[in-house]
Amino acid sequence: MQLEQNTISTTEIKRDTANMLVGNSFVGLLMTIFAFSGLVFFFETDNESLVSLKHKVWLVMMIVCLLRFIDACYWRFGLAHKSFAPDAVIKRFSVGVCLTASVWAFYSVVFYPSMGAVELSATMVILSAMSGGAGTVLSPSKRLVSFYCTALLVPMSMCVLADESGEFFILGVLGLVFWIGIFLSASRYNRFFVNTLYLKENNEKLLAQMRVERSETEKVNQLLIATNEKLDASNANLEAEVERRTEDLFRLSNRDPLTNLLNRNGFLKHLNNLLDTTKVLNNSLAILFIDLDGFKQVNDSSSHKVGDIVLAEIAARLRNYSEKNHLARWGGDEFVAVIPYATVDTAKAVAHAMRSGVTIPIMANDNQVTLDATIGIAMYPEHGDSAVDLIQQADLTMYDQKRKQRGSVGVFNELLHAEIKRDQRLCERLRCAIDNGELSVFYQPIIDVKSDKVSSVEALLRWKCDDEMITPDVFIPLAERSGLMPEIGAWVLNRALIDLSHWQFAESLCMSVNVSITQLLDDGFVKVLDSALNTTSIAPQRLYLEVTESVFANNAELVTQRLHDLVDRDVKISIDDFGTGYSSLHRLQSMPFDFIKIDRSFVQNTSEESDTIIRATLLMAREFRCKTIAEGIETDAQRVHLADLGTDYLQGYYYAKPMSASDFISWYNKNY
Ligand code: C2E
Ligand code: CA
Ligand code: CA
Repeated sequence: MQLEQNTISTTEIKRDTANMLVGNSFVGLLMTIFAFSGLVFFFETDNESLVSLKHKVWLVMMIVCLLRFIDACYWRFGLAHKSFAPDAVIKRFSVGVCLTASVWAFYSVVFYPSMGAVELSATMVILSAMSGGAGTVLSPSKRLVSFYCTALLVPMSMCVLADESGEFFILGVLGLVFWIGIFLSASRYNRFFVNTLYLKENNEKLLAQMRVERSETEKVNQLLIATNEKLDASNANLEAEVERRTEDLFRLSNRDPLTNLLNRNGFLKHLNNLLDTTKVLNNSLAILFIDLDGFKQVNDSSSHKVGDIVLAEIAARLRNYSEKNHLARWGGDEFVAVIPYATVDTAKAVAHAMRSGVTIPIMANDNQVTLDATIGIAMYPEHGDSAVDLIQQADLTMYDQKRKQRGSVGVFNELLHAEIKRDQRLCERLRCAIDNGELSVFYQPIIDVKSDKVSSVEALLRWKCDDEMITPDVFIPLAERSGLMPEIGAWVLNRALIDLSHWQFAESLCMSVNVSITQLLDDGFVKVLDSALNTTSIAPQRLYLEVTESVFANNAELVTQRLHDLVDRDVKISIDDFGTGYSSLHRLQSMPFDFIKIDRSFVQNTSEESDTIIRATLLMAREFRCKTIAEGIETDAQRVHLADLGTDYLQGYYYAKPMSASDFISWYNKNY
């Protein structure tokens, strides 16, 4: 028997139908067995053959019921829990039901004539009851229920109605009415059942979908959790990395890699913070500007490696006298320290302690190095209230102290402050001195001892600022510091050579021009020189360039290179202020020079020592095959003395003071 195609189609629904039909069949079978057995055995007849037929029909019914029972059990205990093909189950069940219904129909039609009133009524009641039960139990299959009820009720009812006696006519009518009623309600049940199954199926689908979705959601959640965990981990890594990089960056931008001290940048930040709290708490602090004495010589004479070792060692020593982050490497061989809560006396005491730390000899790559330090101190709040100002004041104090006495400690004071202010003012004026025509060159003759003639003149720069004559000792260092020296020096060189080119009266006269270290090292210097010589057509041999002995202490390689450039052009070199610098004989040997100028201080000093130095210088000059000039000759005695010692040239007030170009012409014409 086929289930309705249009209503129940899917395997799932067929399975449910099979479950319903077979699952509910046990009671029905039991009822059938009891009811059928009751009818067969309760209402005995005397007709032997009828009885025997009844027993046979009963046997058939029992066999059918037994087979159905076995089938139901087989389904119940074997198949129901497994997935099974519902079609076969439904087919077997349908066959069983149809057989049962057929036996009932056969029984009712065949045994109707022999039934008494009671048996007929009982049979009718049992058939109606069985049909009623089947109306619900078999309702999943409309065809099955129709067949079953029709087979049970219609043949019997028709027999009753067809009975000529008409005795039980009403029973026949009732049977048919009941049959129609069951038919209708079975239809309703069937619809309800199908709907329920569909709902159930949909529900299950929905549940399955929900389960799938839930498991998907769970999976997604798990993924999300895992991703979150990974994200957390990578966030933590990232944070650590950012922290590490920030530290690296801080170290790179705030620390000096050689000494691991703070650099300028780091120190300024730190000092600004410190100043803020110092101001709030109304406290004081001291800034120490520390500059090493003699480090440049170490760096020049030994390798840079030795210089680095020395700096690192000095940094370590200075650290003993200051707290962490209170000390910085300011650059080169300069250090800056801050001492919170310090008075001038404590600052001085720390500075002296630092100096004594620095002066202990250092062993670096088998070199023993002994240095000293000059330290300038500036106090907050007395000497300034910003980090930059305080460091600048300490720096200037150190610088001033270095001029006065290397290897000492100085404290910023008002006098120095006034000097600095004046220097700043002068510096500004100096910038426009050339344009304003405030500069002029004076000339001082240099006399040849042998011929007593003027051999050359030294060009000496003069600056008249607001009717005040500013001496070169004051403004030349200013020009050096403010970077104006190359420009001013070029102007002097040109002026001097132009003047010389105008002096037709002395054709062999030579010109001595002072060249400072910044001028000499300036890349444009040689060009300036070439152009001055070219435009004036002065023979290079007539130009002497005076460089102070101290230039040899700096940048030895470049200085030697420059001097060779000059000598290659046939320009003569004079070593000025000889005896006051630090140059070693070894270094002098590698420098090309033609004259040595004995410093005024030795000439004017009558001591034995000075004399010894002069003699040694003269001896050395002879060795180097160069000429000597004694400067600062003021008296005849000095003239005679220096001439007797063997000096080649003499210069000084004794002969003439530096004069303007026109005065020099008059002087020259008058005396020669
Ligand atoms: P310097 O090169 O040693 O120049 C000699 C200085 O001694 C000059 O001082 C001169 O006037 C002075 N002088 C000469 N004879 C006597 C004397 O008998 N007694 C005394 N007491 N002094 C004497 P000035 O002109 O004041 O120059 C000072 C320094 O300024 C110079 O010393 C030189 O180093 C520097 N300077 C002057 N002009 C220039 C320049 O054009 N360029 C550079 N780079 N430096 C210059
Ligand atoms: Ca000079
Ligand atoms: Ca000199």
